[in-house]
Amino acid sequence: MESLTNRSKPVDRRPMNLWEKIYLPAVIKGLGITLKHLFKKKATYNFPEQTRPFSPVFRGLHILNRDEEGRERCTACGLCAVACPAEAITMEAAERKPGEEHLYREEKYAARYEINMLRCIFCGFCEETCPKDAIYLTETFAPANYQRKGFIYGKEDLLIPFPEKENQPVTEKP
Ligand code: SF4
Ligand code: SF4
Repeated sequence: MESLTNRSKPVDRRPMNLWEKIYLPAVIKGLGITLKHLFKKKATYNFPEQTRPFSPVFRGLHILNRDEEGRERCTACGLCAVACPAEAITMEAAERKPGEEHLYREEKYAARYEINMLRCIFCGFCEETCPKDAIYLTETFAPANYQRKGFIYGKEDLLIPFPEKENQPVTEKP
């Protein structure tokens, strides 16, 4: 039967001669291959001391962003949840009360915001669809966990910390 590619090699079935029977040429050939690989760039990394550089388009763990005054940007519009192809985002909206203007930027905010990292495929649609620049995917991994509930990230895990001092500016994530 004709092969589909030209990479196939016919099997050599002729009896071995004396030179081949002592296996020395094959051993030397094998050692040569080993030596060649000794001087090649290693394909492996000595993890965790060394880490592989991220691809410029890597998308990792999400964060919920704050505005320049430290207020939560998310207005619980639900667009990210609708855009999410994995149905990984759950939220509950709440009305901002008088006196909470320093906490939430809009009149509505996410009282509960959860992402199931076991469902998430890190496509970045939530980031792209958010009209408030409230959600970003970072270059961080979701750490390993032995329990499923450890992969449900709540608002307290996702929201970047509130600035501790009033005059400390919030560093917005890109
Ligand atoms: S990255 Fe994609 S799959 Fe993950 S929560 Fe966002 S939209 Fe859903
Ligand atoms: S993260 Fe953005 S898209 Fe999602 S609910 Fe909040 S404001 Fe809307």
